[in-house]
This record gives sequence, structure tokens and C-alpha cells, in this order.
Amino acid sequence: MENKNMGIGTRAIHAGIIKDKQYGSLTMPVYQSSTFYFKSCEEGGRRFSGQEDGYIYTRLGNPTTNTLERKVASLEGAEAAAATSSGMGAISSALWTIASAGKHIIADSTLYGCTFALLSHGLPKYGVEVTFVNTSNLDEIKANLKENTVAVYLETPANPNLKIADISAIAQLVHGYNKDIKVVCDNTFATPYLQKPLQLGADVVVHSATKYLNGHGDVIAGFVVGKADFITEVKMSGIKDMTGCVMSPHDAFLVLRGLKTFELRMKRHCENGMAIAKFLEAHPKVEKVYYPGLEGHKGYEIAKKQMTAGFGGMVSFEIKGGKENGMKFVNALELCTIAVSLGDAETLVEHPASMTHSTYTAEDLKEAGIPEGLVRLSAGLENAEDIIADLSQALDRI
Ligand SMILES: *Cc1c(COP(=O)(O)O)cnc(C)c1O
Repeated sequence: MENKNMGIGTRAIHAGIIKDKQYGSLTMPVYQSSTFYFKSCEEGGRRFSGQEDGYIYTRLGNPTTNTLERKVASLEGAEAAAATSSGMGAISSALWTIASAGKHIIADSTLYGCTFALLSHGLPKYGVEVTFVNTSNLDEIKANLKENTVAVYLETPANPNLKIADISAIAQLVHGYNKDIKVVCDNTFATPYLQKPLQLGADVVVHSATKYLNGHGDVIAGFVVGKADFITEVKMSGIKDMTGCVMSPHDAFLVLRGLKTFELRMKRHCENGMAIAKFLEAHPKVEKVYYPGLEGHKGYEIAKKQMTAGFGGMVSFEIKGGKENGMKFVNALELCTIAVSLGDAETLVEHPASMTHSTYTAEDLKEAGIPEGLVRLSAGLENAEDIIADLSQALDRI
């Protein structure tokens, strides 16, 4: 039951589901089994040699997890998807499949912290060369493309300043140089509700499904999405042999459940994000708001073009008065929760200078482009008036 013209809300519910013939279960059962029995050695032999379809062992495939993979592929408009036990599992499995010693990767310098660590320390340890650039500037990409370049890696919107990169312009430039270079896009912040990088010309999408795709703050999970041949390679080499980071069937069940309300949740995250951004922009104690839906944002025009249904629920803003006031503000919040992660029902707030980047000196922060008063907010699903009232009372107390 699936066709390409169905809306994303319908596909989030129905795509990938094979109706249960055994007991007529409405929901996809959790096949919490590590292994699957064969009727005979001959059958086992045919499964291992690939002559016959069927399950073998959950690191190689599982009915609950595969159902979720078909659904996420449908949401991204892709041929296939591979589920992983975390977003970092997805990113490392994809990059270890693409790269090898002597090859070169171009990556944006504004990245999720652990992705930056993988690219700046992890992969170079195995002989992969990585050049960091600003992918919002096409000339910087162009100047660094080389014969041994195998991937260009980016996030848009990027963490924490919500910088926007033009996916289709980057894909055109990179593929014009060499069509085999893979443009890899982390679509965690936008999700396929807002932006479909593969349709814009990217080759591979990676996700932390811990965030909006699951949406309920109770799972760590990830996906690699792309062409069927590439996803088979990621599963049979990257995941099966290198990282081993398969998603558990129970986590797959939770993400399947979370996705049933995907469209409803994303609409609300976007509405709340916009309302909060507008409130903060007009507040005298706020120096600057970073939200791609505000006309003053550097990437607004590109965001309007490539994020088709809104601008998301992530808002960053700079409190006047640096680190001290940033901390005072966050500590004064009552409804909003102080926590990392994002995309949950609860509004989550973090202050990089005193939390995730607490080991940075003032100079380090400046170099990383993180103002000391910067606060990152993930707009939850509460009523916007209540979130804004909380932000307002906390601002009054600094
Ligand atoms: C959280 C996050 C990741 C890492 O995902 P995990 O599920 O925590 O492993 C990668 N990229 C982005 C943009 C993220 O927000």
C-alpha cells in the first residue's frame, strides 16, 4: 500500500508496512530475535549464498528493522535506507564505506561535535585526509576538490548557528568535477518533512533518528539513506563488518511508533520555532537570533528555496552580557528543560559556553564562532504561549 504521490503524513504511517498475515496485528510486531531458524542445512546454505531471500541473524537484517528502513527510504524519496544504533553509527558506517587510506574528504567546519571528532581525529588515524571548509561558500569547495576526493560532507541547517548551505548548487559543482564523489548531507535538523537532499542532488543522507524522526526522547538511533547499491554496501561492509552498529528491533518499533505522528509534530515544531524566534528578535535583552526563517538570517533565501514546508524547530540566540547572563537566563527557566539533544516533545535548552563547550577558553570559543551568550533551543510541542512566557520571565530575571 504505497504510491509516490501520497503525502508525507500518509507515508509516515503506511509506507514500508507489510500487513501481518499471521495474527492480523495492526502494528508491526517486534521480532525480538537474534537469530532465525532454517528448515534444513540446504535452506541455510541458500540464504547465506544469497540465492534465497529470508532472515539469518539480526545483525544482517530483521523484519521490524527492515520495515522501518523501507519507511524512512520512502520519506526521503530514496531507494533504500540502513538503520543503525545511533546517528554516529550511521555517519561512521557511511564514511568508512566510502573512504579508505589515501582518499580525501571535504567537510564543513561547522558540524555536530562528534562528527567533527570523527573527521578531524578518527578517520585521519587510518590514512584518510580531511579538509575543512565553509560549504556555504562554493569557491572554498571548488578550490579543494582533488583527484582522490571521495566525499563532500555537510549539515544544513548546521549546529549551533543554523548556517545554511545550498545543497543543489554544491551537488552540481561537485558532480561536475567528478560524478563519483559522494555528497553526504546530515538531514537531522531539517528532516524529510522540510528538505529532501537526495532530490536536490545529494547522494547520501545520514540521520540521527534520536532527534525528530523518533521525536520522543526515548531512543538513540540513526539512518543512512541513498541508492540501493550503496545501502547494500553500507549494510554488508560498513555495518556488518566494521561498526556492527545495528538498530535493535525494539528501538525500531519505537521509531515506527514515533513516526506515526511525524507530520503533526513537525508542523508544530516549525510553528513554535517561528513564534519563539520572532519573540526573541524583538526582545531588548537579546543581541541576535539565528533562525533560518527570519529574513535577516544569512541563509534565508536559500532556506526558503530548499526547505519547502517551514524552517524547523531549532532556534539559537545570543543573550546580551556574555557567559554570565547566558547562564543566569538558562538557570532561571522553569518550563524549558536544560538538556542537550533536540527534536523532542519537551522544549530543550543548552548553553554551549558553560555546558558542551565548558572546557573551551574565551579564545577557543571565539575561534569556533560560538558567542559566550549563545543559547540553543529546541522548540518542543508545548503551547507556544507557555514557552514564550517562560523565556520572558527568565529574561526578566537577568
Ligand atoms: C545528535 C546528532 C548526531 C549524532 O547522533 P546520535 O544519535 O547522538 O549518535 C549527528 N548529527 C547531528 C546534526 C545531531 O544533532
